[in-house]
Amino acid sequence: MQVLRQSQLFQHCSRYGNYVALDSNCLFCKIITEDIPAHIVLRNENVVAFNDINPQAPTHVLIVPTLHVENAAALAKVSPTLTADLFLAAAQIAETNGLTGYRTVFNTGEEAGQSVFHAHLHLLGGRGLAWPPG
Ligand code: AMP
Ligand code: ZN
Repeated sequence: MQVLRQSQLFQHCSRYGNYVALDSNCLFCKIITEDIPAHIVLRNENVVAFNDINPQAPTHVLIVPTLHVENAAALAKVSPTLTADLFLAAAQIAETNGLTGYRTVFNTGEEAGQSVFHAHLHLLGGRGLAWPPG
């Protein structure tokens, strides 16, 4: 895992928080810095949440830490509190969207469908969700 404190990104991000460690090659880091556009629904010092570009449900939001780590386990190791922040953001967005039930998912590894290697929590809701998942 390569974690960079790329000075340009750090400067760009400083308006959002005191500490940001991003990877200049990462798609979600570029969304955090707004170098790539996304529909951002929530932002605070620790997390950024934006609509998935290929939604699988009426509400499909990706919630990412403002720290580049490749998956949920790495995030939990680095900062259990950041992991909690992702779930708190999910609950807040679900409430804002009037969801009475929703699903939160971390895909870990290509075999499980992970395609972007910056930890992200999927928030899905607004329709019935089957179990087991595909
Ligand atoms: P995963 O497959 O679990 O790694 O999730 C990656 C998610 O990122 C997928 O659901 C994609 O649809 C989504 N995605 C990819 N590029 C973008 C983008 N530019 N803006 C928003 N969502 C994206
Ligand atoms: Zn990243």
